[in-house]
Amino acid sequence: MPTIAVDKNHCKGCELCVKSCPQGIISLSKEITLRGYFYALMHDPSRCLGCRICAIVCPDAAIEVNVNGTAYSLFDY
Ligand code: SF4
Ligand code: SF4
Repeated sequence: MPTIAVDKNHCKGCELCVKSCPQGIISLSKEITLRGYFYALMHDPSRCLGCRICAIVCPDAAIEVNVNGTAYSLFDY
């Protein structure tokens, strides 16, 4: 099953990944980071397609997508 990992210390809560996920499974946290941002969370891993769109659109390269044991970050595209 694909998974994503959000580096909340680099996330600025811009919501680009939230709006771009075709499954609508990313939302922002209710807590803020030390930098004062709500950060992205994926809330339904069973529906993740591993499409990597979230990682591609993130301007801060804060998302890594793991598909079949291979991790992809923005820098792998
Ligand atoms: S990999 Fe695709 S389906 Fe999974 S959370 Fe990211 S945008 Fe959504
Ligand atoms: S696109 Fe990146 S910076 Fe914006 S909310 Fe998503 S993870 Fe955070």
